[in-house]
Amino acid sequence: MGNLSVWRHEVDPTSYPQLTGDVQADVAVIGGGITGITAAYLLAKAGKSVVVLEARKIAEGSTGYSTGNLYATIGGDGMHSIASKFSEEKLREVVESRAAAVNLIEELVQTNQIDCDFKRVPWSLFNVEGQNESYIEDEREAAEKAGLTVLSNVPYHISVNDGFTVPNQAQFNPLKYTVSLASKIDQANCRIYENTRVTEVEEGPVCRVQTTGGTVSATHVIMATHTPKGLYAVHANMGPYREYAVGAILNGKYPEAGIYWEMQTSEHYSLRTYDSPEGRIVMVLGEMHKVGQKEENLECFERLEAFLRKRFDVASIVYKWSAQQYKPSDVIPYIGISTGDSKTYIATGFSADGLTYGTLAAMIISDHILGIPNKWSKTYEASRITPLASAPKFIKENANVAFELVKDYLTTNEESLQDVKTYEGKVMEIEGSKCAVHRDGNNQLHVVSAVCPHMGCLVHWNTAEQSWDCPCHGSRFDKNGEVLEGPAINPLHRVDLSK
Ligand SMILES: Cc1cc2nc3c(=O)[nH]c(=O)nc-3n(C[C@H](O)[C@H](O)[C@H](O)COP(=O)(O)OP(=O)(O)OC[C@H]3O[C@@H](n4cnc5c(N)ncnc54)[C@H](O)[C@@H]3O)c2cc1C
Repeated sequence: MGNLSVWRHEVDPTSYPQLTGDVQADVAVIGGGITGITAAYLLAKAGKSVVVLEARKIAEGSTGYSTGNLYATIGGDGMHSIASKFSEEKLREVVESRAAAVNLIEELVQTNQIDCDFKRVPWSLFNVEGQNESYIEDEREAAEKAGLTVLSNVPYHISVNDGFTVPNQAQFNPLKYTVSLASKIDQANCRIYENTRVTEVEEGPVCRVQTTGGTVSATHVIMATHTPKGLYAVHANMGPYREYAVGAILNGKYPEAGIYWEMQTSEHYSLRTYDSPEGRIVMVLGEMHKVGQKEENLECFERLEAFLRKRFDVASIVYKWSAQQYKPSDVIPYIGISTGDSKTYIATGFSADGLTYGTLAAMIISDHILGIPNKWSKTYEASRITPLASAPKFIKENANVAFELVKDYLTTNEESLQDVKTYEGKVMEIEGSKCAVHRDGNNQLHVVSAVCPHMGCLVHWNTAEQSWDCPCHGSRFDKNGEVLEGPAINPLHRVDLSK
């Protein structure tokens, strides 16, 4: 079962070449998720020469592990927090811009005849057992203020306690969409390279983007890597979170097609169905926690599975996976030129709403590069400072980073290599250095430095995904220290125990 999303079985792996040598372009797009591919599509269509540089394969980042829901509303802290932190006008702008991004996806699906199961469905927020009434009430009021149509019925398969529905939102297969959109990009203007990892971006009149295979010289750079790579001010304004998904085949009745957000005590679980080649699947997502701060995370899957069994007659559990999101401290994503840069655009802080925000980021950034005014760019400005709106979260996130940074260095571990069991990972001191030690299924030890190369925090073991995760800014590494995701550019140093 592994960390395979429901979307993966249906899409053939892409096979774009690796970059070898040096090339030039108007725009270098780093990252082949929904943000990078949509930006490349729009810019190439407008006549710009574009190079897409993807470290792995198209849509292998969060895009290919998301839920595929598209909505004008927002999750996490909710629409009402934008109204209270900023204004009702800002809330209307955010909702309007998100609706425009969903419309663009629909338009691109239609014009390019993309087969990705796009359909319009209702979105509902509700509780079944009375949880978090005030959040639902605040969101209902905010949805009305934002100008959305609000219906009082919730088309769930069981009766709900309280809730409401916003019609005409959408769903698709995010992996199929992104891979297909990549294939529809005007090839005369765009070259896509896979397995090409960017290792450095140097700004200048002409920017130089170094990769593992060659260098790209470009006038503009778009860092569409979910969180910017390297050291960026914006990292201090975001919290990295992991979230889990479980997919099941049912014996009994499935809910109607729709986006269902069922409130739990402190978060919502997101439910939807999908007609996959192996039959109809119902999936539930939730159990969010900060990256690297929950070693025993198999229980997240267990809780989601227990929830599915409580709500439905489950025949079998067929999928389990997890993915990452970055929450901005003032709730609004960062899209545009980054603080201190003049040619590098960033697009981050999407929370779990980034299929829509990523598309919107592509719209805003491509307009900027093409010299077209965009009425939403100011709202999302990446270099904005919002001390009042950000303060509580900013202080909380950074106190947490400082705590994680210091606490692990003060902890000494008396354990030895023999104490590391199969499939376990432990951080221990070896000859005065903090090391991350993992024993794999073949009884082989893998030892790397435990010090995250991004900002020096110590990594923690992630049991469910068998990876080393940094609790500070969300960098993740495989058992050999290679970068999986997050802001780190370099791997964890290998430690040779034979010396
Ligand atoms: C469990 C979960 C469910 C979600 N469900 C939804 C949903 O239903 N609806 C919604 O709107 N949002 C959802 N989201 C959020 C959404 O998945 C993301 O916000 C969105 O996919 C981000 O897209 P992206 O293109 O910016 O990043 P990604 O898809 O992560 O793409 C970034 C790409 O950059 C590449 N990259 C990284 N480093 C380098 C480098 N050095 N060189 C070259 N390439 C590099 C990566 O390999 C990756 O392919 C969900 C998130 C989670 C965690």
